[in-house]
Amino acid sequence: MGRYTGPVCRLCRREGLQLFLKGARCHTNKCAVVRRDGMPGMHQFRRGKASEYAIRLREKQKVKRFYGIFERQFRKYYAEAARKTGNTGDLLMSLLERRLDNVVARLHFAVSRPQARQFIRHGHVLVNGKKVDIPSYLVKPGDQVSVKNREQSRNLALESSQAEFLAPIPDWLDRISSDPPEGRVSRLPSIQDIGLPVTPQLIVELLSR
Ligand code: SF4
Repeated sequence: MGRYTGPVCRLCRREGLQLFLKGARCHTNKCAVVRRDGMPGMHQFRRGKASEYAIRLREKQKVKRFYGIFERQFRKYYAEAARKTGNTGDLLMSLLERRLDNVVARLHFAVSRPQARQFIRHGHVLVNGKKVDIPSYLVKPGDQVSVKNREQSRNLALESSQAEFLAPIPDWLDRISSDPPEGRVSRLPSIQDIGLPVTPQLIVELLSR
């Protein structure tokens, strides 16, 4: 799968909020959003009032950028959420939150989602004792996510978990103090666990048209 390789702070600046794509730097005064660098591009101050469509589009882009996924994959998550019974917006966010790269970052095995993705791709992560190198793998309640018992893997995870600024681990995940580090999925995530200021209903309104 492809990935965005351009300047990542630009993505946060466009959304006007911190998406935490760079690890430790995101928690310092060097963050472009904290410095109030404004929107990227030459004509940032010429933009007028956002249309209804633009408001919904921005909500979608914000979520895609936060989880580091592209349009096609995002539409697949939406289709899966729409097939299920319940609130489509909340189900969509829950599906995205269950991605293995997100779980690895949330458990502090990596400092950011992009780093977690690479960590998984390089085979450092096990789910229920088996190597899983697919960042989009969806975890389920009861799953055990651990770091491979290999010096290099353990050191990388240890370095990340000792980073100066770390977001609290959400309630739906339990980190177990063990060596190699390990975590458990205690329940499915809900919209309250995500901590991203987003209105999923607006995304549903955009994609259901
Ligand atoms: Fe850059 Fe991180 Fe700040 Fe986003 S949150 S603008 S990625 S430093």
